[in-house]
Amino acid sequence: MSGSQCHLRLWYETYDRDLAGEPDDALQAVFDTGHEVGELACERYPGGHLVAHDYRHIDEALEETRRILASGSAPTLFEPAFRHQGVLVRVDVLEQLPEGGWGLVEVKSTTKLKEHFVLDAAVQLWVLRGAGLDVREAGVLTLNRDYVYDGGELDLSELFQMHPVMDDATALHDAIGAQVSEMQAMLGKSKAPNISPGEHCTSPYDCPFLAHCTKDLAQPEHGIGELPWLGPARRAELEAQGIDEIRDIPEDFPLSDLQQVIRRAVRGGRDIVHGDVQQQLARMETPLHYLDFETFAPAIPRFAGTRTYDAIPFLFSVHVERDGQPTEHIDYLHEGSDDPRPQIAERLIDALGREGSICTYSPYEGRVLQDLIDAVPEHAAALAAIKARLFDLLPVVRSSYYHPEFRGSFSIKRVLPAMVPGAGYEDLAIADGQTAAAHYALALKNAEAAERKQTFEALRAYCKQDTLAMVELRRALASIE
Ligand code: SF4
Repeated sequence: MSGSQCHLRLWYETYDRDLAGEPDDALQAVFDTGHEVGELACERYPGGHLVAHDYRHIDEALEETRRILASGSAPTLFEPAFRHQGVLVRVDVLEQLPEGGWGLVEVKSTTKLKEHFVLDAAVQLWVLRGAGLDVREAGVLTLNRDYVYDGGELDLSELFQMHPVMDDATALHDAIGAQVSEMQAMLGKSKAPNISPGEHCTSPYDCPFLAHCTKDLAQPEHGIGELPWLGPARRAELEAQGIDEIRDIPEDFPLSDLQQVIRRAVRGGRDIVHGDVQQQLARMETPLHYLDFETFAPAIPRFAGTRTYDAIPFLFSVHVERDGQPTEHIDYLHEGSDDPRPQIAERLIDALGREGSICTYSPYEGRVLQDLIDAVPEHAAALAAIKARLFDLLPVVRSSYYHPEFRGSFSIKRVLPAMVPGAGYEDLAIADGQTAAAHYALALKNAEAAERKQTFEALRAYCKQDTLAMVELRRALASIE
């Protein structure tokens, strides 16, 4: 699979694995979720046999797989090992079919079937058939967003959904043989293939060697990659003309209004006000509130009424500005492993009062509030009233103001330091939402009270910084003339 993304990636994984970057906490959480979902999927197949030898004991895994298949002692195998023409695969689930033959199942912790999953199944099919196994079915098992957990025992037949891919995987059969030969020839050479980084480095997966491959590349000061919504065709047109800097894009090149603003800002080396900021801010009513949620999204639903990957708020931060008074801060972090939403709803209603605009930065808080309205019906009216007071600062910035240091992004982490020099997230132990969610999930599992407390404090500090950032941003916007 690595080789189908990029031959150089396969080369590095084979000969120079240490060049890969370490997975960060958020990526590690994705891997952990994959394992958790994989283990749960196995419970769908009672009486299955796990081939437990890991990658350091491949010969033992191959031998055990052969032995179990020969004895016919298990209707299903988990992680059986097969090798064909130098390609080794471990199959998530291999089940004996009632009509004879075997079905292979690739388990994924996503909710949708993706094209590269079919390739994954096809490689396994190619190896298994090559190794002499009579495989008659292939499927990708994903989670099912339609399943609503009722709070009792998980219904595994509903939580998962099977996507049959036998026909598509079979269609790839010949191409895989050719690709494997190419990759083996490449690996047999004395030098790594000469491949430049490009769009293939992040699709279908983020390549772990990206930092290594790009470390010596000269980066344009404001590259065309900073232009939002520059489609691949336009990008290719510019590249064909040898243009990689925004400032060099010709006047007559078709750009959107915002892209033109960005080109002007980059060329002028300064910020540009291109909309009426004050007119928009004038719609806000005092006292001003600032709201930010942190959420986590368990793959395996935990609370009644939720689906896989529903975002569950576990922490909020609110700052309040009243005329002539110091800014007030209120937050709530749910420390128990029960459903946080009823407590979050109650505390939020107390924190936000009944008057004044509630600033957010993105429509996300509105979506979380809507989900809370549905999840906590006894507070639906009060929560709906809160939702009606939301005022999103993001469209104000996007429609009115650009600074070259935004570098094409309107994320508050990019916008704030550009508008308020010195303001930022650098000193925080947790500095992004995905990491926050990963740490919260880990903290709930951690029996060590002191460590849990430390994580909770870091989470609160991060969320507080998000609303404080909005306070500073709103003030910076208010000072624009
Ligand atoms: S970063 Fe890009 S070019 Fe380098 S190995 Fe990965 S996919 Fe290949």
